[in-house]
Amino acid sequence: MKERVIATNITKSFHSTKALDDVSFTVNEGELFGFIGPDGAGKSTLFRILTTVMNADSGDALVDGFHLKDEIAIRSRVGYMPGKFSLYPDLSVQENLEFFAKVFGTTVQENYSIIKEIYVQLEPFKDRRSGKLSGGMKQKLALCCALIHKPRVLFLDEPTTGVDPVSRVEFWEMLSRLKQSGLTILVSTPYMDEASRCDRVALIQKGKILDIDPPGVITKKFPLHVIAVKSENMPKLRKDILKVEDAESVYGFGEFLHITMKKENSSTEKIETLLKQQGHQHTEVKIIEAGIEDCFMHLMEHNKN
Ligand code: ADP
Repeated sequence: MKERVIATNITKSFHSTKALDDVSFTVNEGELFGFIGPDGAGKSTLFRILTTVMNADSGDALVDGFHLKDEIAIRSRVGYMPGKFSLYPDLSVQENLEFFAKVFGTTVQENYSIIKEIYVQLEPFKDRRSGKLSGGMKQKLALCCALIHKPRVLFLDEPTTGVDPVSRVEFWEMLSRLKQSGLTILVSTPYMDEASRCDRVALIQKGKILDIDPPGVITKKFPLHVIAVKSENMPKLRKDILKVEDAESVYGFGEFLHITMKKENSSTEKIETLLKQQGHQHTEVKIIEAGIEDCFMHLMEHNKN
């Protein structure tokens, strides 16, 4: 399998903040590869470096076979959709697209087939100023603009942040279809639930990659039991649950608390008994399969130092 991105020991600091700390990974041709991590994890900095918008302090990468110093070669081969709105708000939909095509020395007509499926949804609004589009529409136009020069590697920085849930789903479906055309896609997101849409993910926190694998492999590797607990009185439950012996960690998770315990020590009966003793009613206690967020919390805990 051909590697389209090979990053080796990339480090970048801003004053005393280490935004990227010795980051290495590879992305294969035609792969949909996700960087999953919270705000400030280093995702945007990494994408800026790989698209040659910013220099690394140390380390290097090969992007479609070119070293980072070969800026011109890389820029013509990558599509980059930055996290913040990247379009010209006063230009219309069509003008934005034509502008991006021109910058890369091509025309919309020449590469229309690549964006056709996405652009047909925008066509009825082609004369509307892009600043007046909805979040989902802006995101589709930004994707068209990032694709119009027929890149071989696509970098999408948090494309679904601030987008409504329906448009988020639609966007991931578009990415799956683009991937089928052989495009290599690197996408970052703070939403852990989007990990399952990727072939492989890198979990990233404070500039360090905590793990890289297919999402299903990461969750299978989880070494503990996760017990989800709910009660009528959640504030009291938060306090009482700390009395559970052998709990490795406790954190909130939607309407449940998640308790992680070593498999040999885990017991839902023990927790149920404790909750009864503390006067809790309408409780629910169940062992569940670990999700990416459970894995992330666990890896973060074990990488504190
Ligand atoms: P993410 O995209 O995951 O939210 P970023 O790459 O934007 O993370 O930021 C990583 C860290 O680097 C953060 O602590 C952020 O404040 C810092 N940082 C990013 N860009 C700059 C900059 N231009 N100047 C100073 N600090 C920065």
